[in-house]
Amino acid sequence: MTNIIDGKAIAKEIREGLEKEVSTMTTTPGLAVVIVGDDPASAVYVRNKEKACENVGIISTKHALSAKTTEAELLSLIEKLNQDNKIHGILVQLPLPKQINEDKIIEAITPKKDVDGFHPFNVGRLVTGRPTFKSCTPYGIMELLKKTGIDIKGKDAVVVGRSNIVGKPMAIMLLAEHATVTICHSRTNDLESKVKGADIVIAAVGITEIIKGDWIKEGAVVIDVGMNRNAEGKLCGDVDFEGAKQRASFITPVPGGVGPMTIAMLLANTVESAKNSK
Ligand code: NDP
Repeated sequence: MTNIIDGKAIAKEIREGLEKEVSTMTTTPGLAVVIVGDDPASAVYVRNKEKACENVGIISTKHALSAKTTEAELLSLIEKLNQDNKIHGILVQLPLPKQINEDKIIEAITPKKDVDGFHPFNVGRLVTGRPTFKSCTPYGIMELLKKTGIDIKGKDAVVVGRSNIVGKPMAIMLLAEHATVTICHSRTNDLESKVKGADIVIAAVGITEIIKGDWIKEGAVVIDVGMNRNAEGKLCGDVDFEGAKQRASFITPVPGGVGPMTIAMLLANTVESAKNSK
C-alpha cells in the first residue's frame, strides 16, 4: 500500500516546535526579507514566509525595492542588514532583475545570516560534512524522510535536477546519509533507466509529469519537488502522481508535500541563527 507523505502536517509539527522554542528564547529571532521588483509569484512566496514567521514569533522585516534597483543599492542594503544585530537571517527572494548579479548578492550576505544556505561558504561546509545552514528545500526533504522513518543508508537515490538550490545540495545531503546517489539533468542519457533503478527518486526539474508512473520501481520512495501549472492552470508536480502511486511505497503530493517544508526549514534556520548569535 502506498503511503502519502503529508508534508503539511509534518511542517505544522515543526512550526509548533519552533513556536515553543522561540517563546523561551531571550533573543527574538529576526528575518529580513528582501524582494526586488513585482514578480507576482515572488510576492506570494514572500507573503507566505512573512505570515509563517509571524505565527512562530519571528519578527520579519520586509524590504520591497523597485524593479529598477541597482546592484550597488541592493549591496548597500545587504551590508546594513549584515550589521544589524536584530536581524539573524537575510533572505533575498530570487529571481532578481537582470541588472543585478545574483551570485554577487548571495556572496554579499554574511554566511552567519545566510538562512537560505546559498552562500558558497555554507555550501562548502555542507559538502565537507560540517554543521551549516542547509538549503531549505533539500533540508525539508531530509526531514520528511527522517520523520517518515524511511531508511536512506545504502539505498540507490536518483536526484533529477542539479540546481544549486535543490538538486546539488539534495544529492550531498543524501550522500551524507550514506545513499548511493545519481544526479540526472537535461543532458542525461536514458533518464527512464536511471529512475527505474532507484529506491528513492527526487524529482526537481520543473516539467509537468516528466517522471512517468511506470518508471517507478515497486516499493520506491518518490519525492516530488516540482511546482508547475498544467494546461488547466492546476498546480502539479514533476511526477505522474496517479501512476507512481500504484508502485511507490511512499510518495509526496503536490501541493502539500515538499512546499510547506521549505518554509518550515527557513524558520528553523532563522531560529538557529538567533541562538548562534548569543
Ligand atoms: P532549475 O530550473 O534551476 O533546475 C532544473 C533542473 O532540471 C536543471 O538541473 C535541469 O538540467 C534539469 N532538467 C531540465 N530538463 C530536464 C530533463 N528533460 N530531464 C532531466 N533533467 C532536466 O529549477 P529548481 O531546481 O529551482 O526547481 C525545480 C522545480 O522545483 C521547479 O518546478 C520549482 O518550481 C520547484 N521548486 C519547489 C520548491 C518547493 O518548495 N516546493 C522550492 C524550489 C523549487 P540542466 O542543469 O542540465 O539545465
